[in-house]
Amino acid sequence: MLRLYNSLSKSKEKFVPLEDKKVKMYVCGITPYDTTHLGHAFTYVFFDTLVRYFKFRGFDVKYTQNVTDIDDDILKRAKEEGRDWRELGNFWTGVFLKDMKMLNVLPPTNYVKATNAIDTMIGIIETLIHKKTAYENNGNVYFDIDKFKKYGKLSHFNTRQMLILSKERGGNPADPLKKNPLDFLLWQKSSPDEPAWDSPFGKGRPGWHIECSSMIKDTLGRQIDIHGGGRDLIFPHHESEIAQSETFTGKIPFVKYWMHTAMVLYEGEKMAKSLGNLIMVSDLLKKYNPNDIRCFLLTHHYRKPWEFDEEELKYTTGQLSSIKKLTNMSDKTATIDSSCVEEFTSIMDDDLDTPNALNFLVEIAKKPKMSSTLLKLLSILGIRI
Ligand SMILES: [Zn+2]
Repeated sequence: MLRLYNSLSKSKEKFVPLEDKKVKMYVCGITPYDTTHLGHAFTYVFFDTLVRYFKFRGFDVKYTQNVTDIDDDILKRAKEEGRDWRELGNFWTGVFLKDMKMLNVLPPTNYVKATNAIDTMIGIIETLIHKKTAYENNGNVYFDIDKFKKYGKLSHFNTRQMLILSKERGGNPADPLKKNPLDFLLWQKSSPDEPAWDSPFGKGRPGWHIECSSMIKDTLGRQIDIHGGGRDLIFPHHESEIAQSETFTGKIPFVKYWMHTAMVLYEGEKMAKSLGNLIMVSDLLKKYNPNDIRCFLLTHHYRKPWEFDEEELKYTTGQLSSIKKLTNMSDKTATIDSSCVEEFTSIMDDDLDTPNALNFLVEIAKKPKMSSTLLKLLSILGIRI
């Protein structure tokens, strides 16, 4: 029985999909302006492993990942570098996709750009205004959080905590056009030098949260099984997605299981563009085999924060090469050992415990005639020998 940790209930729950043997999953993608650091890789390698594991368990998976190709950060960076925001976005999306391919991450079923879903965003915003849960003010449109009593149900934060984080994460609670400081932007008036789309609320561009709600509706429907992303997206991004999607569709819950990956630290702090302590995947790829990097990422449980240490990466590389040697020595014609597959499955069923699954593989690599079994189990983790 597969059990996954749900951030909404803060507990491990039995995985029961909305539709038998089918999984609809969405993971927030990158904002393409300087990818791909190790924190990104940790998130997307983890969700790729989850997809592979679902397939191994007989599920049919529909997986959407987006590119936030219009957003404050990308416009700011384009301005600083004197580049066109579209060209900047395409460039960094290309880098990201190349890094993902190197790490053996399978392409999602749908890979979508926010700028291709603007019509859907406008449609949802119109409905929210019609339902009186959103309001216009001076060319901006805000979601009225006082109309959504459960705001905070995912993050489990109180108003004071939400206000602090909103300020830290670009939510601008001091905006005088808002009724409640926690109201969030659905649509914003563009400055004269910013890209703008025509809408019933005036020329402007979408807010960040409405982008994901719209792409989910377009590619997966009104309710999905799993929504993922990094832990730092819980508030305000995912909290706001819930408010607008559940109000728009009337279908509760919008997402059955919320899954979040832990932060990767470096030099004692969260790896972040703003702190300049990024370990870039492209730099590691110059020194290490992509397979070793993927394996190294999976030696960390997806919910446990960890600090990058190159010595640990070297250790993992050594461990994997010893598995490789043993696989080469073993009899290639050996059959798959079903009791090993069963044990591996029971480890992975417990909230995708990849560190223990890898430990288990190191142990079985020491036994004779295990090469076929090892190759099969490694392929479920997306590790190539
Ligand atoms: Zn998102």
